[in-house]
Amino acid sequence: MNSNLVDFHCHLDLYQNLEDMINECEKRNIYTLAVTTTPRAWQKNRELTQNKKYVRPALGLHPQLVHEYHYEVDMLCDLIPETRYIGEIGMDGSANFKDNLELQAVILNKILKSCIVAGGKKILSIHSRGAASQVLNLLENNMGAGEPVLHWFSGNHINLRLAIFLGCWFSVGPSMFKNAKSIELIKKMPKDKVLTETDGPFAKNKTNQPLKPWDSITVIENLSLLWEMDIPSTKAQILSNLQNLLR
Ligand code: MN
Repeated sequence: MNSNLVDFHCHLDLYQNLEDMINECEKRNIYTLAVTTTPRAWQKNRELTQNKKYVRPALGLHPQLVHEYHYEVDMLCDLIPETRYIGEIGMDGSANFKDNLELQAVILNKILKSCIVAGGKKILSIHSRGAASQVLNLLENNMGAGEPVLHWFSGNHINLRLAIFLGCWFSVGPSMFKNAKSIELIKKMPKDKVLTETDGPFAKNKTNQPLKPWDSITVIENLSLLWEMDIPSTKAQILSNLQNLLR
């Protein structure tokens, strides 16, 4: 099978069986960034993805868990030298989480600083819902951390302009094409800075089933329409973007 898709933000360890999901991605040739929500979870992902060709584990601390798991940030920072991939990290300013935005900012800042201390060059999968300005501000102050990939970006057009100026990448998922505002943002993202993602199993398809990495094909289909490129060229564009990011 030669799918050669990219899912640059997926929570493989939140499906029923992590090992099955890893093997399925390997079998289908899907370049997958397995983001994690706590550093403890990363260690298991790392063990199971050793010697794999397509799946890479990312060391994360999800902003929606920061109020409960902030004490794990020291564990995360200690592990940073051991990995190139960091995520899911970031900030969430939506209704349920905005009360601890200050703590989230402290944690994100600490993680970015630790990336710099560890020599930078990290690939960072970043959540910024309802907090795009704050996240971009922290990224701007910590430019040496590595290459930020803004996942499911939902800021405004001024935020987008700053993100592009800072050299950010964007991982775009199926859900973003359901929303006119998001489509306008995607149109303005530089074509050579876009990657595909699913954010499964959090993100769901039309029948409310959790998205799986191979559903990133629907993003390719949507981008192909938006960019007025055929499907093979769109796939090739995303793969070449991924290569450039990892180079
Ligand atoms: Mn996520």
